[in-house]
Amino acid sequence: MGLWRYLEVITNKIKGVKIMIKITDKEAATYQTNISGWVAGGRFFGKDERAARWNGCTHVACKKCGVTIDKMYTICGQCQKNEAIKRFDKMPKKEWDGKTPLLLLDSDLFFDSEDELLDYCLDFVINPQELRLIICKPIYAEPIDPGDYYSDDLSDDSIIPDKLRAAFDCLNEEISQVLLSWCPGEYAAIIREDALHDTNSGNIL
Ligand SMILES: [Zn+2]
Repeated sequence: MGLWRYLEVITNKIKGVKIMIKITDKEAATYQTNISGWVAGGRFFGKDERAARWNGCTHVACKKCGVTIDKMYTICGQCQKNEAIKRFDKMPKKEWDGKTPLLLLDSDLFFDSEDELLDYCLDFVINPQELRLIICKPIYAEPIDPGDYYSDDLSDDSIIPDKLRAAFDCLNEEISQVLLSWCPGEYAAIIREDALHDTNSGNIL
């Protein structure tokens, strides 16, 4: 690249001006004969061996225990479980009310009632107090902002008409009470010893 062209490119970069480089221009690509460095996946990485190796590999070492894992993860499945248990153990605990859904740690299993939890415990012959259960919290429908909803149709200085705002206020009051789903909350569940009974025998699990 000539000096003047170089200065033009740099100046435009500083100014934030997008420069045009045509496919036939010299700066679009150059043929190199004397380069050396790391190459992976058809790309040249220069001295960056780490980036080149990562680009060319399919598996890496777990950052916690060192076992070989797919490179899209940073730690292995077992270490993920261990980390989840550590986080669970640090959670504040609260007694379960018997109704709010519970999530079994490290699974997608939700228990919506005492009966569901009881069935699971009977199937797997496990005491409910031995399970790592998280009390879920509700997710309600988000109110809709008319300014956002109609932003494409509004000019910069226009405001939402009062009639439309009032209509959205009514709508938002309704929809914000609609329960959509449950997600894991901040508390680990304490299941009372006498919370679950075997309904057939009357025995506590
Ligand atoms: Zn690991």
